[in-house]
Amino acid sequence: MQCDHCAHDVPDGVFCTRCGAHQGTTKEVGNARRREHRYAAHPGEYVGQPSVFTTLFPHLGHHKIHEFRWAFIVGLAGVLVLYLAGLITASILVSAFLVPVLYLIYLYEAQVYRDEPAVVLGFTIGGGVIAGLILTLIERALYNPFQFTTNPLAGTTISVGGLLLLGLVFPLIQEVVKPLPALLLPNRADFPETVDGLVFGVAAGLGFSLAETLVGNLPTIISLPAHVNPGNWIYTLASLAVFQPLLQGSATGMIVATVWRFRRGRLAGREIGAVVMALVAHVAYSTGTTLLQDVAANGLFILLWQATVVGALLIYVRYLLHYSLMEEAAHMGFAETVCPNCHMHIVASGFCPNCGVALTASPHSVKGSRRARKAT
Ligand SMILES: [Zn+2]
Ligand SMILES: [Zn+2]
Repeated sequence: MQCDHCAHDVPDGVFCTRCGAHQGTTKEVGNARRREHRYAAHPGEYVGQPSVFTTLFPHLGHHKIHEFRWAFIVGLAGVLVLYLAGLITASILVSAFLVPVLYLIYLYEAQVYRDEPAVVLGFTIGGGVIAGLILTLIERALYNPFQFTTNPLAGTTISVGGLLLLGLVFPLIQEVVKPLPALLLPNRADFPETVDGLVFGVAAGLGFSLAETLVGNLPTIISLPAHVNPGNWIYTLASLAVFQPLLQGSATGMIVATVWRFRRGRLAGREIGAVVMALVAHVAYSTGTTLLQDVAANGLFILLWQATVVGALLIYVRYLLHYSLMEEAAHMGFAETVCPNCHMHIVASGFCPNCGVALTASPHSVKGSRRARKAT
């Protein structure tokens, strides 16, 4: 069969295995070449769908995604149970570790680090933790309106200078510091794909978020009695467990992915927009949260604001990743393999001809088991 879009001779299939284009002749699905209705890392979804796991955990197949979703839900339920039991300190700790630990399991599951787990994990998650420790300690030494508190939503009056620091200066400094561990990775040439850069950035951002949460809440963790009246903590906990790690992880993931794109010689509007989006989202998140806390707004509004910012950020990450995967699909030679997404036996190069998933975003074990197709 000849692909309508790249004119290569490719095996029969719904998708071209070389360029990933949808081969459908009906026009109902939009642009078949760009296929924004078939997200390259997870073709069951649109690109513009603010889904957490298929965005930040792009190597996971259809089945594994569900396991991670369930683990996340169980973790959140654990936070809720600890909160209801009044064990606030324990629930802060679980919130801080939940997403970073899931990510560590994901890196192991997908073997994103290939044969060098120690170096890659050390420079991404480990480096992020160290950066988070140092920077958060400096930030708190410079400015700290949040002394020990038993009620996190009690209005702390904040000056304009304080708002500028918390809402603008600290987020921008963090976005400069967080990518550094992933960018200093000594063997980064072994990981040329943008999807690798994205994952390393997310890992560094999550390491940072873990340290930031622990250091930031240290006074509370140390001095709060083990068992207290739950009070208003639920909103703070939801923010610590879900939105803060997702913001820190996606913003850094996007910035590191852009540096990877730059190394491949692809720095266009989409990539510059990605950096701008990461910075704007972080500033919007921090400024909005600080202002809403200052006017002692209902905690639900704060969470809604955070969810809106994080959702928009996730969509941009998907947009960047989708086009990176579509453009970077080098011809890997036709090989027999099992698709990690639809589990069909396929003869494929860059994309699964059946479901259209980009095989550069498949786990290392799948890439390693590719067998060159025997000449017949
Ligand atoms: Zn094609
Ligand atoms: Zn497939």
